[in-house]
Amino acid sequence: MRNSVIIALLVLVAGVVAFAAHGTHQSRSKSSEPVKPTARITKTTAPKSTAFASAAITNANLRNELTWTFGGKQQRGWYLYDLLIGETLSHHDETVTTDFAESLAKWQKKRGLSADGVLNEDALMALVSFWQSNRLKNKAYATPDQLLTAPPSDFYDPSRADELRQVERNTYAAYKKMIAAAIADPSLKLAHTAPGELAPKEQYLKIVSSFRSREYQDNLRRQSPNSGSAGLAVNSPHFTGRALDLYVGGSPVDTKDSNRAIQVNTPVYRWLVRNADRFGFRPYFYEPWHWEYVR
Ligand SMILES: [Zn+2]
Repeated sequence: MRNSVIIALLVLVAGVVAFAAHGTHQSRSKSSEPVKPTARITKTTAPKSTAFASAAITNANLRNELTWTFGGKQQRGWYLYDLLIGETLSHHDETVTTDFAESLAKWQKKRGLSADGVLNEDALMALVSFWQSNRLKNKAYATPDQLLTAPPSDFYDPSRADELRQVERNTYAAYKKMIAAAIADPSLKLAHTAPGELAPKEQYLKIVSSFRSREYQDNLRRQSPNSGSAGLAVNSPHFTGRALDLYVGGSPVDTKDSNRAIQVNTPVYRWLVRNADRFGFRPYFYEPWHWEYVR
């Protein structure tokens, strides 16, 4: 699939170059070929589309190969973020096309970056800062009156203890509205019982983790000391009760690229990327399961 896109782009570049060359030839022998208007159009559009076609070829490589660092860990490629990138650029198609490069260039220009349509480290870092800036700003520790204890049926693990099923009240109301909307979307085929309630056997979109007390978070950190700052934050948004880890497929909360590659391709995750914002939920780009209620 990727190869065919690259080949298509190469053919396009070759075509544009050939066409431009043909145009030059035409202007030298005007008398024999009276198709000037076409040649003139080619001359004005060719440089731009050639530039983005070449950006698209570069992007096809960077998508899998770009080396960058996040949370103290070396990262490879940005293919895991195709959907988020597309959502940010309002470009709901493949990320290795000429059209995509053109959309990216517009975004780069708005952000004061070099508008070349190439998703290099600078462009990726700008996207990451943009996503991070949209996250929860007030990280105040939840007070007991702000929390409610959600029923076991909302949880991925219904045997989870009461103190591990606490959610900030407004976040919970927004979550339930979002679940009802997801159930109402027949394309997701979510098993449900009462209107707006996920069936016990349904795993998708159930809550894996919600409010975490400082003590609980410290315990998690002790259990996986190497998770780094991209893993279990010292000042976790889960302290607010407004961060929800939702089941989006694969191993619920595993940051391995292979696991996240499964998660970002599930219909449920794709739906969240397109719809969660309507309900006040914003993503943490690095963890497909982690959503924060920001209203
Ligand atoms: Zn989380």
